[in-house]
Amino acid sequence: MVYFEFEEIGNLIDVDVAVTTWERIILREREGEQYLVSGGAPKVVKPPTTDYNFMLSLINLVKVSDVSVSFEGLMNSISFEAAAKWVQENGFPEVEHYYLDGAYAWLSLSRFRREVVTLWLLFHLWLALLYEDEKEITRYLQSLAARNISDFSFRRKKITAQQFISDLIDQRLKEMQPRISAYLPNPRILLHTNNLFTVAYFQLALLITQKDETKGKNLKVCPIEEGGCGNLFWGHGNRKFCPLCDRRTAYSRRKKKNKNSN
Ligand SMILES: [Zn+2]
Repeated sequence: MVYFEFEEIGNLIDVDVAVTTWERIILREREGEQYLVSGGAPKVVKPPTTDYNFMLSLINLVKVSDVSVSFEGLMNSISFEAAAKWVQENGFPEVEHYYLDGAYAWLSLSRFRREVVTLWLLFHLWLALLYEDEKEITRYLQSLAARNISDFSFRRKKITAQQFISDLIDQRLKEMQPRISAYLPNPRILLHTNNLFTVAYFQLALLITQKDETKGKNLKVCPIEEGGCGNLFWGHGNRKFCPLCDRRTAYSRRKKKNKNSN
């Protein structure tokens, strides 16, 4: 749980957000544009706002197969099926149109992909900055800036990267409104939003602003060679596998793999 205290000035805790999930998500086309559309019965849920794995579940939707990362290529790596599954499990991150008094929600697939890829790029750009990896900084910055920045000095690249991260996260944070909950015994300030992308960007902001010694410490890759899935996840202590692959799943996958290779 991400918990922070401003002991002298008060208590800011958690993000206040509720979203609707639907039984199924279908693909519809309208005027040449593809949409994720809700189907079946709605249900109101509260997303796991204080778990970095929420943000990482969006980032893990992007599948990179080659070194050059064009924005377009990254967008196309998110399949409709993967996007629909995410929206079914977590709800619409944002809704472009409601029809019939909110009974149907629509979100264009390209908008979903664009937001996820931007988040993915910011996250990787931040990691590249953390490790001072010039090659990676250039690579991700190029995809975001959509122009050639290879003749920039390393210092200028770093400043540009930090500017991109700040500006793009800022655009999202602006959408959050602080609200007070005066109920005893824990009066506190909550940040309110209706948008799951905003929640994910807020989590990225939290990750970036962690104290140096804990920064990225619990960020791990679920190990494929040991039966894991290769996804990024946030896990404390010696946790080895992501929340979707428990030890038994990983063990049986590893056994199957060994059997096949013998
Ligand atoms: Zn896994």
